[in-house]
Formats: sequence, C-alpha cells, structure tokens
Amino acid sequence: MKHMHWFTLQSCILLVPTNKGHLHTNLQVFCLRWKEYHMSKSSRRNILAFGVGAGVAGLAAPALAATFGNPDEPPQGIMNTKGNPRSAFDPGPQNPALSRQFPGTFTPPATDVGSLPEFWASFNNAPRRVQAGGWARQVTQADFQVSTEISGVNMRLDAGGIRELHWHQAAEWAFMTYGNARVTCLDPSGRAYVADVKEGDLWYFPAGYPHSLQGLGPDGCEFIIAFDNGMASEYNTLLVTDWLTHTPPDVLAANFGVPAETFSKMFTHDLWIFQGEVPGPLAADQAAVKNPKGPPPNPFTYSLGSGPITRQTKGGFVQIADSHNFKASTTVAAALVTVHPGGVREMHWHPNADEWQYYVKGSAQMTVFNTGPNAVTNNFQAGDIGYVKRNFGHYVKNVGNTDLVFLAIFKTDTYQNLALSDWLTHTPPALVEAHFNLSAQDIAKFPNNIPDVMPR
Ligand code: MN
Ligand code: MN
Repeated sequence: MKHMHWFTLQSCILLVPTNKGHLHTNLQVFCLRWKEYHMSKSSRRNILAFGVGAGVAGLAAPALAATFGNPDEPPQGIMNTKGNPRSAFDPGPQNPALSRQFPGTFTPPATDVGSLPEFWASFNNAPRRVQAGGWARQVTQADFQVSTEISGVNMRLDAGGIRELHWHQAAEWAFMTYGNARVTCLDPSGRAYVADVKEGDLWYFPAGYPHSLQGLGPDGCEFIIAFDNGMASEYNTLLVTDWLTHTPPDVLAANFGVPAETFSKMFTHDLWIFQGEVPGPLAADQAAVKNPKGPPPNPFTYSLGSGPITRQTKGGFVQIADSHNFKASTTVAAALVTVHPGGVREMHWHPNADEWQYYVKGSAQMTVFNTGPNAVTNNFQAGDIGYVKRNFGHYVKNVGNTDLVFLAIFKTDTYQNLALSDWLTHTPPALVEAHFNLSAQDIAKFPNNIPDVMPR
C-alpha cells in the first residue's frame, strides 16, 4: 500500500465509511475509483501506477487512508471521532494549566502515528539545589531516558557567587542566558586561562580540565551546561575542597611545602556554590595567572550569540559553533536557531549525533519521525528540553507570536545537517516525481540551497 497515491486515497475516503462491516463494498468502490483515476490519465507514468493499483485488488483488505497523510491501519487521530466528538473528550481528572501547554500531545496532528520514547523534558520542574551564592538544577539520563549523549544543568550565580574549583569526567559546554561571569581553566600543559563571558557566549572545558565559574556585576549570571555524557551529573564533580579535607595533614604539608597548621582553618564540608566577593578587573586576574608557557592555544570561550550569522532567511537565522570556529570545542557542536513568527526550522536530520535542544525563548511545535512509521508531536516553551536521536527526521515550528530561539547541541566536533528539501532538489526529478506524484514544475519550486529556516 505504500505505493498508492495520496490524493487518490483522499478522494476514496469521501465515499468509504470506516465501518469494517462494509469492507467488501468499500473495497469495490475503492478499486473502481482507483481504476477510474488512473485510466483517465494516459501517461506512461500513470499506466505504471495503475499496475501498482491493480495489484492492490488482489489483497484481502487494503488499508484505506483514514486521514491526510496517515495511510496506516488501524486509523489513528481525531479524524476518527467525526460524528462522535465525545470520544475525544477528557472528563478528567486533569490539570488544565499544564495540559494546555501541550496541544501537540493532547490533540496530535492527524499525521501523527505510533509512539516514540519521551523526547520532552524541562528545567522548569527540576528541583533546585539552592545555596548562598546561587543554585543549580539538572536533567540527566536518570531523569530523561532518551538523552544518552548529553545531560543538562541550569545554574545561577549571583554577583560574586562562586562555583568552586573542580573538574569532572565529562567535557563541559555552556551557554550564557543572562548576565556576566568570569571563568578560569588550566590545561594539562600548565597554560592558564581566565575570561569574562556575557549573554550569548559559550565556554568549553575538556574532560578533566580543572575550572571555576563566578558571577560578576551587576547581577551575576544564569547559564545552561551541556555535559557530553547523558549520565554526567552536576552533583558528582570532583571538588577541590573535598580533596584537601580528605587528605592527611602531613601529606598536605609535604605536598605544598608548608607546615600542616597552614590548613587548620579549612572548612569541614565542601563549598560547591558559595558567596564570594565580586572579582576585580579581568586584566588583573589574567596578569596574576600569567606564566612563561603562555595562554592555551585555543580560547575556552566563544561569542555565539553576538558572533557571525551562518544562514539568514525571511524566516529566521542560524548561528553555528563547532570545532571549525570554536576550536577548543572538540566534542560538542551547537546551532543557535532563531525562528520568526510563522517560520519553521525545515525538515531535516543529523547523521552524526543526537540533538539535545534547549528552548531559550518563544513557543515551538516539533514532530519527530522514525521508522515504523512513528511520528510524534510535542510542544516546547522557554526552559524546556527536547531530544532527537541521530537520523530521526524533525522540524521545529514557531507556534507563538514572538521569536522562537533554541539551541541544538550535539556530541560531535562537526555540525552536520541533511535537509529534506536539499535532498529532493538534488535527486533526478523523474525519480522524485515517481515517489510523490508531483510534477517537475512543483519540485523546481522547492528550496535548493538549504535555507534552514523557512520561508526563504
Ligand atoms: Mn564543571
Ligand atoms: Mn535538528
């Protein structure tokens, strides 16, 4: 049935009740319409198509399309409730404030089919661990089963608030969503790095590199962290205070070449996030860490939001950071996507990594497609997280009346994207025509230069 033509199926539907008791009659009507449609055409293409249709008559129960774009049996979708709206009614219990944010799941588009592992999560309902100096919350694979390649942290540091010196097993990629911060890092060659970041900026610390973060004036900062491992947790980092307090004092004395009493005033617990003083000028901190080895060859920070636009259309624009322009970021690539009202991030997929999304602003609808077929739609607001397995088809549509801004983050050194429109416009037209019953003239109207965000 995969070879039946969309619009033929559509016209048959008008004649065919869905009650299976009438299947035999339906089949006769269907085949008659099918034959009429194709015999009215004389092109070789349609005669071939009739050959496909004639084969259908030999099947016991051809699957008739229940809705536009959903040729599968049993039929799914709200179209099936026609004449019986009570079947789609939800008597409750329900939480309307929550459920009305998810029209895509409550009343899926008629084209949705099957199911996929949950690909929606959010920082909005993640528990905050609050300290003097700031707070953090996280969504790891423990909370969000599908997210095997990336785990996410959302953190706030007030002015002077310090995320203590630490390191960890995963690499840390971060995007500033608010305010100003100072970051420090040391590489294995002993080259020290200190830099200030602002809204829209990134940092990247390779796995194991020791680092710190601190909020600056006037009101500190907020940011999201993407670890390049779904199981990485903000709460299992190696904390420098933990190490010192769990080392015998005589070893500390020998290690640092000072009397053991030097360490007698240490805290007996770790600090993680704590309140400090707002640091002085950046130049002074950079001078203080300067050594003959010089700075690391590639900066650990990058201005994504205020950096160059990779592609721009009427519908919006995309800014990309991967190891080609943000050279330090060898395991994480990212696209910052802005979609104007009415626009859509075009149908595409990524062949080299899963996509972890963070929604910065606006309101989005995304449908994810996989073999099966399975096609599932969900909705995303600011602070929400989406996840798309590598090679799963998807689009992201702005369904609000303000700009939609989201980050697409990948565990890879190189951003890769395959656009459906680019594929169909760089395949011999006759081949594409044969798949969709489209004309060459229609195909010629498709964008052929990867707009990323439509309209062009
Ligand atoms: Mn860290
Ligand atoms: Mn994508």
